[in-house]
Amino acid sequence: MATFNIRQLPKISLHDHLDGGLRPQTIIDLAAEIGHALPADNAADLAEWFYEAANSGSLPRYLETFDHTIAVMQTREGLQRIAREFVLDLANDGVIYGEVRWAPEQHLKGGLTLDEVVEAVQDGLEEGVERVAQQGGFIATGQLVTAMRHNDRGLEIAELAVRHRENGVVGFDIAGAEAGFPPSRHKLAFDYLASEMMPVTVHAGEADGIDSIKDAIVSGRALRLGHGVRIAEDILLTAEEGDADFVVLGPVARWVFDREIPLELSPSSNLQTGAIQAWGESMADHPFDILYQLGFKVTVNTDNRLMSRTSLTRELELLVDTFEYGIGDLEQFQMNAASASFLDREERDELMEMIAEGFKRVRKANR
Ligand SMILES: [Zn+2]
Repeated sequence: MATFNIRQLPKISLHDHLDGGLRPQTIIDLAAEIGHALPADNAADLAEWFYEAANSGSLPRYLETFDHTIAVMQTREGLQRIAREFVLDLANDGVIYGEVRWAPEQHLKGGLTLDEVVEAVQDGLEEGVERVAQQGGFIATGQLVTAMRHNDRGLEIAELAVRHRENGVVGFDIAGAEAGFPPSRHKLAFDYLASEMMPVTVHAGEADGIDSIKDAIVSGRALRLGHGVRIAEDILLTAEEGDADFVVLGPVARWVFDREIPLELSPSSNLQTGAIQAWGESMADHPFDILYQLGFKVTVNTDNRLMSRTSLTRELELLVDTFEYGIGDLEQFQMNAASASFLDREERDELMEMIAEGFKRVRKANR
C-alpha cells in the first residue's frame, strides 16, 4: 500500500484510447438515442460486462468490446461529449497532460468526414480543458490520430494527422490486430510522416514479438513503442553462481535501450490481452520491473480505462503494491512520460517542472 496519495500526484498519460475510455452511462445514453442494442441496460452491469469481456485473455476478443463503444461514436455530438468527459475524467485522476488516441476511420458511419470527426473530438477536448481550468485545475491534451493496421487507409490517415497538426494533433499511431499486419504494410504512410517530420508511435510488442518491434522502428521510425512489453523477449537474464545477474541484450533490445525509446507499458491491459503470457499471469510476472531496473525508459499507461476498469492512479497503485515502488519511482515514470510526449521541447520542460513541484508538495504533505 502506498503511504502517499497517488491521485494527487501530477501524471502524464501517453497511451489511452478515446474509444476505450467512455463512461458507461454515456454509452447507455447515446445508444438509446441511435437505437443501438447493448449487452446490459444499466451503468453498473455494463461496466461489469466490459471488464469481463476484456478479461478473456485474447486480444481479438478484447477488441470486440469496441464494437459497442465505436457504435455510439458516430455523431458530432457523441464524439464531442465523449472527448469532453474523457478529459474531465483524466483531470479528476490527477493527469496534467493526456495524449488521446483514436482511429478517425472508424467513426464515419454517421456520414461525417475524416476532418469533421477530428474537429468534433478536438472541440470536445478543448471544452474539457476549459472546464477544468474554470474549476481551478490544469490539463493539456494532444490527439494521436491512429490508422487501423488491417485497413488500407494508412496514407490517408497520415495526411489527416499532418493536416490537423496546428489543431491539436501531435502524432500518429497504428492499432488493431498486430500479428499478420506489420508496420511495413503502411510504409507509404510512415515515409510520408517522416518527410513531414510528424512524430510516430506504433503499437508493437503486444500481440506480436521482437520482429514486430523491429519493424515499428525500421518501417515506422517509431519514436515510442505502444506497449513494447515483449522487448523483454530479447533480453537474456542469467544468474551466474556467486555473481550478480548477468544481462545480455539482443540487437532489438539493445537498440531500444541505447536509443532510450520510451515503452508505453499498460500493466492491467498487458495482463488482460495475454501480452505478458510468456512470463506468467499475475502482475508480479509483468516484466515492468525488470525493464525499469535495467534502465529502459518505462512509462505507465491505462490503454483502455473502461475495459480494464482502471485509471492511471489505479495502475500506479498496482505497481506500488506489486513491486514496492516509492514516490521517487513514480516520479521517474512521470518524468519519463513527460519527456517522451509529442509536445514541443519547451512544453515538455514545463510539464516536468509541474511534476517536480507536484511531487514535492505531496512529499511535504506526507512528512
Ligand atoms: Zn493501445
